[in-house]
Amino acid sequence: MSASRQDLAEFDLPELEALFHERGTPPYQARQIFRWIHRHALTDFQGMTNLAGAVREQLRSEFVIGSPTIVGDEVSVDGTRKLVLELADTSRIESVFIPDTPAMTFCVSTQVGCAMGCGFCLTGKMGLLRNLSAGEIAGQVRVLAAATGLLGQPFNIVLMGMGEPLHNYDNTMKALRMLHAEEGLGVSPRRVTLSTVGIVPGLERLAQEALMPNLAVSLHATTDAQRTTLVPPNAKYPLAAILDACRRFPVNRRSRITFEYVLLDGVNDTPDDARRLVGLLAGIKAKVNLIPLNPAPGIPYRRPSDAHVDRFARILAERRVTVSVRKSRGRDIRAACGQLIVEGGPRKTAAQQMALLLH
Ligand code: SAH
Ligand code: SF4
Repeated sequence: MSASRQDLAEFDLPELEALFHERGTPPYQARQIFRWIHRHALTDFQGMTNLAGAVREQLRSEFVIGSPTIVGDEVSVDGTRKLVLELADTSRIESVFIPDTPAMTFCVSTQVGCAMGCGFCLTGKMGLLRNLSAGEIAGQVRVLAAATGLLGQPFNIVLMGMGEPLHNYDNTMKALRMLHAEEGLGVSPRRVTLSTVGIVPGLERLAQEALMPNLAVSLHATTDAQRTTLVPPNAKYPLAAILDACRRFPVNRRSRITFEYVLLDGVNDTPDDARRLVGLLAGIKAKVNLIPLNPAPGIPYRRPSDAHVDRFARILAERRVTVSVRKSRGRDIRAACGQLIVEGGPRKTAAQQMALLLH
């Protein structure tokens, strides 16, 4: 592949139209090509049967269509499927297909690794290797849809794979626009959930977006002291600032902001934590998603007992906070939350190597 050839999968529709306009080709051709790439997941100009042979040849000499390739594919006993995808520079990411929850859901990465360093998350242990491009984020969805036979079918997307989406804001939002385009997969923003540790300027930008995904905020603690230990960016964006941004966040009449709360045995799972959480969420249209820790080697926390999870959930429910407990799927193939880490990739940290050795 020649490095000088531009990748058409990185262009959103207006950009592709502008590019073709500059080349003096009619705008409908840009839409045709966008459709082939994004709706039909084509990676080769030869298959673009509604373009003249000479046009296809010309395009092939000037451009490429980038796409992640599947280098690993594992299915859990519960049906969850984890794909390891390789990108053009040989970086690897993981994407997960979770069937029937009740919808079909793709859990997608936004970065290779993550810079946030949450103490209970394996991806955090990798550090940030790089941002994904918009084409790579949208490409994951196409590859997942094609691999699961869901191209053209409805599905949900959760930005809960590797990485912090608001730390890669522009590429993430551009990918959502590409996925939303009618000529592409036509994914409604209501079917997309963006999960974030709460980078306040990012939340404020998101609040202005025309294409607004559902919002999930990873809270995990009820005091700043504890949250800063578990979620280091809290030192810069403390609880009050995040919750204030949430209060101002435009949620439509029937939806709510999800607050994710990873339960760590004996750390943040006490009745006092539950009661403080209720207090923090006062005045916010909230629902709480409790995630009992998925333990992993190298992670210095334990999963609480079911009794403690129930105790926590009951305190919220009694105080009229909508609460659910996330059933972690795919744990046997390390596809569950916080377990996404790419093996065999370059630049492993000591912690990561230890995790792999012990696994
Ligand atoms: N960076 C974003 C999105 C990816 S993480 C965020 O943190 O929100 C998606 C969810 O998985 C987060 O709520 C995160 O806290 C949770 N998670 C991370 N590690 C986990 C673990 N070991 N067990 C259970 N959930 C975990
Ligand atoms: Fe990054 Fe999310 Fe993991 Fe924290 S929980 S390290 S923000 S991926």
